[in-house]
Amino acid sequence: MNEIQLELKNQLQKFCLQKIEPHMEHDDETETFRMDIFNELGELGFTGMTLPEEFGGVGLSYQDFSIALCEIAKYSVSYAVTISVSSMVQAILNEFGSVVQKKQYLPALSSGIEIGAFCLSESGAGSDAASLITSAKKTTQDGTEGYLLNGSKIWITSGGIAKTYIVMARTGAAGSSGVSAFIVRDGTPGFSFGKKEKKMGWRVSPTRELLFHNCFIPAENLLANEGDGFKIAMAALDKGRFTIGAIAVGCAERALDESVRYALSRQQFKQPIFDFQGLQFMMADMALEIECSRLLVLQAAKDYDSGTPNAKLACMAKLKATDTAMRVTTDAVQILGGVGYTKEYPVERFMRDAKVLQIVEGTNQIQRVVIARLLKKEYSKH
Ligand SMILES: Cc1cc2nc3c(=O)[nH]c(=O)nc-3n(C[C@H](O)[C@H](O)[C@H](O)COP(=O)(O)OP(=O)(O)OC[C@H]3O[C@@H](n4cnc5c(N)ncnc54)[C@H](O)[C@@H]3O)c2cc1C
Repeated sequence: MNEIQLELKNQLQKFCLQKIEPHMEHDDETETFRMDIFNELGELGFTGMTLPEEFGGVGLSYQDFSIALCEIAKYSVSYAVTISVSSMVQAILNEFGSVVQKKQYLPALSSGIEIGAFCLSESGAGSDAASLITSAKKTTQDGTEGYLLNGSKIWITSGGIAKTYIVMARTGAAGSSGVSAFIVRDGTPGFSFGKKEKKMGWRVSPTRELLFHNCFIPAENLLANEGDGFKIAMAALDKGRFTIGAIAVGCAERALDESVRYALSRQQFKQPIFDFQGLQFMMADMALEIECSRLLVLQAAKDYDSGTPNAKLACMAKLKATDTAMRVTTDAVQILGGVGYTKEYPVERFMRDAKVLQIVEGTNQIQRVVIARLLKKEYSKH
């Protein structure tokens, strides 16, 4: 790590220990998201890290961002995910928005005053996202040109607490080319919230259904051009992949830390359980898999930063890191034995939080589908 990255990590560690860690058990139990914590992370510059300074961001690299997400995830996967998704919305606006749209929406998002949400999934369109059916029909209302949104979205991270929603809706024919992206603000007539999911993990991060009923969106809220929506969503997910990997590395690191500390202090058969080779091999493998994952995530981020993104590596980083987080957190519960299965230690929470990392932003089966497709493409060139 360079000096900036070390400083970032230390500052975040201090903040998370003071402000996040003391609430986590309670907030996980009660599904409480604290906006004041998000606002404070914003004041420290952690909610707009990769956005250029002209729109209120800090202008740091995706490598720096990955290190920061990893650190936050050691204390709370939920806050790390909230920042990751809100940053994804900022990246979309920055890359595809007009100057007016950027000026209007980015400062509140980058400063952490507001949260952004990314809205692609529907009940009938998960992995096959291009089959979405929420419609946006061109219309004119009181002399203003725009679109009438009808349909619903599910699984939306930060649904209900976000103010700016990037919503993919169908303006054209079936398939990916008929999808457009819209900026929808909380409070727009015809836009409401459906059920809040009761989840196994990520309990501090609300996940909600969005409902659109004759919701009028002015044409100025269309992002880029009609038909660009799927391209915009996929570009955003490409970035999201290794950031989810970074969160997974933090989640796994915390589980390893808890395991080693516990194994050193817990005695059975008149010796620390750390001294049993069966557990030593488990912990050695946990450490190995975490380092492999970290290297993949940082390499994918570096490629992105240097302007030569490597889609295959980004998929591998997400896949490897999230599978590692699931395995390491499960092993951590095993190493702690009975107490690992209780709320006395946080490893059970990290195990629950790890699971969904294998599902979001492209399931790990879909990552394998994409890696195989890219391999085939590489080999067909020869
Ligand atoms: C907590 C949470 C937060 C989320 N946040 C957001 C959000 O903010 N915005 C958003 O738009 N979405 C969000 N999602 C949705 C998430 O992206 C989807 O759940 C995910 O894409 C999978 O879709 P699905 O759940 O419909 O599963 P399905 O697509 O129905 O998949 C079910 C199973 O089939 C497998 N499968 C499907 N297709 C293939 C294939 N071609 N080959 C092999 N296996 C396959 C999958 O891997 C999976 O195991 C969130 C989900 C959760 C649980």
